[in-house]
Amino acid sequence: MPTLLLAAVTAATLVGERAVPLRARTRPEPGRILRNLALGSLSMATVALAEGPAVRPLAARALRRRRGLSQRLGLPDWGRDLAAFLLMDYTMYVWHVLTHKVPLLWRLHLVHHVDLDLDASTALRFHAVDMLVSVPWRAAQVTLLGVSPRALRLWQLFFFGSVLFHHSNWRLPSRLERLAALLLTTPRMHGIHHSTVRGETNSNWSSGLSLWDHLHRTFRLDVPQDQVTVGVPGYREPAETGLRASLRLPFVRQRDAWTPQPGHEDVR
Ligand SMILES: [Zn+2]
Repeated sequence: MPTLLLAAVTAATLVGERAVPLRARTRPEPGRILRNLALGSLSMATVALAEGPAVRPLAARALRRRRGLSQRLGLPDWGRDLAAFLLMDYTMYVWHVLTHKVPLLWRLHLVHHVDLDLDASTALRFHAVDMLVSVPWRAAQVTLLGVSPRALRLWQLFFFGSVLFHHSNWRLPSRLERLAALLLTTPRMHGIHHSTVRGETNSNWSSGLSLWDHLHRTFRLDVPQDQVTVGVPGYREPAETGLRASLRLPFVRQRDAWTPQPGHEDVR
């Protein structure tokens, strides 16, 4: 059932962003999308090879030994899984903040943020090493929070669907989106997070439930999407967002992402 729901969300998102786009595209297709898919394939292979085998046994052990926070709350099984789900989601909010604030992690996360347009393909545009360095974080989450295999699987399906949905270019009716944003991370929210304006990027850190942005007062929905320039001011040249340049980006000398690139000083 959860897998079917994910398939439905994926299909609706892919159709929705084509049928009713939210932001005008600035880069030609299909080149950009193919590059994002290529980066995404490497990332997904890394997750399958490194994260899955490392994390699944930890979840099985947490359940078997009743170890970790959610296992110690004296709740029935469903309550433990719900607590684990919420704690996983909250600690992903924390991880996302860290990927922006810790220079070494930002070096990797920058590959995701230099995309000059934002759509469902951006949801896959992560550097494989970005995925690799998140494995110890995921292992710590599962171990310390006591995430059972069932809670882990449900959270992973929800998280993947959410990431695809909120990166998408799907224009939902604004009243519906305002309502949805009370609970979920939405495309307009995440569009603001991908803005070239630093103060706007430093908002909407949630990747699953939007609850964490509401609680931390980092929630924003006050920037119209036609005013958002997607990307970072320091990397505006399309050649720098290509496949080879993106794979190399974390390992070469980087410019300050927030200082406008010469010739692009007028970027909002
Ligand atoms: Zn980010």
